[in-house]
Amino acid sequence: MAVSKTRTPEEIEKAINCCFKVFGENYVQEFLSKYNDLTLNKRRNISWHLIGHLQKNKVKRIIGKIDLIHSIDSMELAKIIDKHSGDKNIRTNILIEVNLTEENTKNGIQRKDTLNLVKELRRLAYLKLLGLMAMPPLAKEPEENRKYFRELKELLEEINGKGIYGSKLNTLSMGTSHDFEVAVEEGATIVRLGTVVFGKRPQKDAYK
Ligand SMILES: *Cc1c(COP(=O)(O)O)cnc(C)c1O
Repeated sequence: MAVSKTRTPEEIEKAINCCFKVFGENYVQEFLSKYNDLTLNKRRNISWHLIGHLQKNKVKRIIGKIDLIHSIDSMELAKIIDKHSGDKNIRTNILIEVNLTEENTKNGIQRKDTLNLVKELRRLAYLKLLGLMAMPPLAKEPEENRKYFRELKELLEEINGKGIYGSKLNTLSMGTSHDFEVAVEEGATIVRLGTVVFGKRPQKDAYK
């Protein structure tokens, strides 16, 4: 996936023309503006994913436009997405964002609470859980994040092994420009690449 936060529609079009079909956005307002331009007006056939933290009051505006939401970290948020998806009679694909660092300041649900959330998600008919996502700390060496990627894959296998969700989970969204090669070695099925696709982002971005 090409992570297109802060990039202009023109930059995104270049990436489309070269090879990319999936774009990840972090902020709802910014996403909607690019969606209107590229998907509605220019009819570019691309898929949009939301990878940033999603505020509950913004859910309604993205349902039906986002193919996969990577950042589900509570049942409250899941219920709101389920409700708005139900209103439109569509099923929304989601990933659970897991916070593997035990830093409470980071987005994502704690690992120990993940199985329980997966179990609860079975009740929501308009959501389809596809797998897990993680955003490890920004390490000096990519190798330092291998343990987190491995842990996320083990968690996915545990969920599948115990049959906690109705269907098998097969998506692991992990790895950024800095460490995607290690993530792929550890089983990533989606890598989220910003800088290596578009170059350095204009201002410092704290992955909020
Ligand atoms: C910005 C962002 C990325 C991309 O980071 P790069 O280092 O530019 O590849 C990946 N994942 C998330 C959640 C992001 O916010």
